[in-house]
Amino acid sequence: VDGQETGSERVGCLIGHVAHGKTTVVRAISGIRTTRFKCELERNITVKLGYANAKIYKCEDERCPRPLCYKAYGSDMEDSPPCNVPGFENRKMKLLRHLSFVDCPGHEIFMTRMLSGATIMDGALLLIAANESFPQPQTLEHWSAVDLLKIQNFIVLQNKVDLVQEEVARKQYQAIKKYIKGTVAANAPLIPISAQLNYNLDVVCEYIVKKISVPIRDFISPPQMIVIRSFDVNKPGSTVLELKGGVVGGSITKGVLKVNQIVELRPGILKKDASSNFICSPIYTRVASLHSEQNELQIAVPGGLIGVGTTMDPTLSRSDRLVGQVLGQVGTLPDIFTEIKIQNIHVLSKLLGLATSGTAQGKVSGLIKGEILLLNISSMAAGAEVLTVKDKSAKLHLTAPVCTSLGEKVVLSRRIQGHWRLIGWAVVED
Ligand code: GDP
Ligand code: MG
Repeated sequence: VDGQETGSERVGCLIGHVAHGKTTVVRAISGIRTTRFKCELERNITVKLGYANAKIYKCEDERCPRPLCYKAYGSDMEDSPPCNVPGFENRKMKLLRHLSFVDCPGHEIFMTRMLSGATIMDGALLLIAANESFPQPQTLEHWSAVDLLKIQNFIVLQNKVDLVQEEVARKQYQAIKKYIKGTVAANAPLIPISAQLNYNLDVVCEYIVKKISVPIRDFISPPQMIVIRSFDVNKPGSTVLELKGGVVGGSITKGVLKVNQIVELRPGILKKDASSNFICSPIYTRVASLHSEQNELQIAVPGGLIGVGTTMDPTLSRSDRLVGQVLGQVGTLPDIFTEIKIQNIHVLSKLLGLATSGTAQGKVSGLIKGEILLLNISSMAAGAEVLTVKDKSAKLHLTAPVCTSLGEKVVLSRRIQGHWRLIGWAVVED
């Protein structure tokens, strides 16, 4: 199985203000352009989550100097490439790691999409542009979000050092160092790079191998996958014989998924009854194929991003309709809720990430009965009306059903000055 012998992991190259170079870093490491959509290219931003897989190699010769001995290739690299460090050209390189990147949108309006990508990651690269002042408002918001989501492995990248004087870069380097001491990334390495010019990307590879550990995977439990993309892959005008079933993309959180297995997707198809209550019909379907990038798999295991071809009606999975759903072994998935109780509500003391041109950073009030919040639970985003609030607990009515386990972390956002802003978090009460 691709990715297993050496361990595969997910790294989100997401954390960073728009245009700080996230997409460029992913491209420099994997060779893949994750900016795929025309509107994204025009506006030079990433709107949807983009995927890219890469492999990290190291020269087999122990004498080959670091960090030059590390190099990344796209996942289409099949054999061991030769080392290209002078003096070691006749040596082969050893595959150390498979990586999957999720390139998340950095723009504030895509914050919730960023959160949905972040839930499946084992590590994150936090990006800061050397040619802009630090910290940018968004930096704070992003960093607290990853804190909430308990991503533990970070590497901080100071990008675009080619654009500034050495002295300026050094000064900012120290400022970042000082800043990260008080954050989740306290022990993270900080690496100056130029993604554009390929400076220090070998160092990044070395640190990914050494600092981002591959978590222990659960291969025993019934399989469960969180859907973060879904598609209809058929071209207009396809004939009946050519039609392919719906495809979902995501990451297996536990267990092993096999081709031909019958699986369930929850909450599934949503309808409303006469009194506007949701009726959820789970989707039952067969796994027709499994892919990681171009590779066809017979079984898929936790770690990395996979695409699951199914036999379901492709209109069900069209344009990300199934994002946030859970796919897994029939009868083993968590419950579906349209009303949830949350507890241990923690509200941020100050609003993060307000535009510098706007008002001063405001104080955040507790939850208010009757208000509408935006909730992120695993990779699902849903609106929620606050029904009751008592101390650190609240009862919420959701605008869409979610499939979630008790104890799961919930991220809360409130609409402030026309934007959804992160205000705190809680857990689903058990
Ligand atoms: P994202 O919004 O964080 O994904 O940023 P992009 O990767 O799209 O980069 C934004 C712009 O910065 C693009 O025009 C890149 O070519 C440029 N850029 C990215 N990295 C570097 C770098 O290291 N040096 C320079 N000079 N430009 C860079
Ligand atoms: Mg981008």
